[in-house]
Amino acid sequence: MKTENIPYKIYLNEDEMPKAWYNLRADMKNKPAPLLNPATHKPMTAEELAPVFCDDLVAQELDDKTAYFPIPEEIFNFYKMFRPSPLVRAYCLEEKLKTPAKIYYKFEGNNTSGSHKLNSAIAQAYYAKKQGLKGVTTETGAGQWGTALSMACSYFGLDCKVYMVKVSYEQKPFRREVMRTYGANVTPSPSETTNIGKKILAEHPGTTGSLGCAISEAVEVATTTPGYRYVLGSVLNQVLLHQSIIGLETEAALKKYNIKPDIIIGCAGGGSNLGGLIAPFMRDKIKGLADYRIIAVEPASCPSLTRGTYAYDFCDTGMVCPLAKMYTLGSGYIPAPNHAGGLRYHGMSSTLSQLYDDKLMEAVSVPQTEVFAAAEQFARVEGILPAPESSHAIKVAIDEAIKCRETGEEKTIVFGLTGTGYFDMVAYEKFHDGKMDDYIPSDEELQKSFATLPKID
Ligand SMILES: *Cc1c(COP(=O)(O)O)cnc(C)c1O
Repeated sequence: MKTENIPYKIYLNEDEMPKAWYNLRADMKNKPAPLLNPATHKPMTAEELAPVFCDDLVAQELDDKTAYFPIPEEIFNFYKMFRPSPLVRAYCLEEKLKTPAKIYYKFEGNNTSGSHKLNSAIAQAYYAKKQGLKGVTTETGAGQWGTALSMACSYFGLDCKVYMVKVSYEQKPFRREVMRTYGANVTPSPSETTNIGKKILAEHPGTTGSLGCAISEAVEVATTTPGYRYVLGSVLNQVLLHQSIIGLETEAALKKYNIKPDIIIGCAGGGSNLGGLIAPFMRDKIKGLADYRIIAVEPASCPSLTRGTYAYDFCDTGMVCPLAKMYTLGSGYIPAPNHAGGLRYHGMSSTLSQLYDDKLMEAVSVPQTEVFAAAEQFARVEGILPAPESSHAIKVAIDEAIKCRETGEEKTIVFGLTGTGYFDMVAYEKFHDGKMDDYIPSDEELQKSFATLPKID
């Protein structure tokens, strides 16, 4: 086996960890479009956002000028418990694929939440505590974000109310119990505890819920309960900012061994891990200092970048949140019930949407059976059981490595391995039993969904 002089795992020392987050928007020539007030269609002001988000997070959300935000010491100390995360050279996968490509993955699954989401959860909880709040509310789908936030809230002694999509609440009891272990209050959504939940239940009795609906409930509770604010685990600029720690560490680890990537790949749900991973690389690409192929990978059953439309849309089903300009499938879009691999949000971070529209980034969509096949192939040689979400990136990394085998090119591929899949075994079971299929929405279905987009002039 080729091993070169690069270790299997490149770790940074604590003193080599990034001390500031990087805000890519500061260096973008075309800035992402601002959030709009859903009633007036005017850009949201800090005053309008203040009842929803913590003050410091509002400032981060609206700031497209400041490039670096120092990481507060309390957050940095928490990071040190599970960071830096390793950048792993996939020697075994390369050998298995017989590819001349060099493959690296940044592994974010080494913490109890099992994913990169803790990077932003701890930051958001910190700012809530700093403001003297009592607690925060949020939504969670399969539960990764809710778990990360519960951990962060228990660390800072904050109350945490989680609205969990009902189908997951019922079918995924393990993550729910992890959240309760960390002291969170978990409610299946839609619920009778909010006006919007009651309305949705009246209109769609028996609904199993959606992320967009859980967001509406969590926002309603935050804005009507004194001492509470709402927090979100993806999509927002502030979340991409916190997740830049992934890319900055990757950049530092690569520099240590003088490695220059050719292709950078990440899975994209709301866009936070990808936005974080690519941040410093995209900075250099925008400044003309380097050139990389950057690839977003999404599920064929929820293809917001590859088949969505670039327009202002609601971030939630209840249409109470600000409007964001993004690649979207329409806020009412719900992926087919057999879709097992996460990444089911109808839209995409406005930053990534703008970069994609500017052709600085590519996107591909992949069917879920191919994603699970790639996951299994990876698990069997690299020893890590990947999350289905992360496996979207694995699938395309393998495809690119196979292309290198065919052309003989020794490309360097870096991808984000966002988390572990221990709580996704029902999905793996479906795959193993041949009960998983690849439902892909028709153009007609998507057109119907686009018709519900708000009209903005
Ligand atoms: C939530 C999650 C994702 C997708 O979210 P992004 O905001 O697009 O990064 C990907 N992988 C894992 C393991 C997750 O938990």
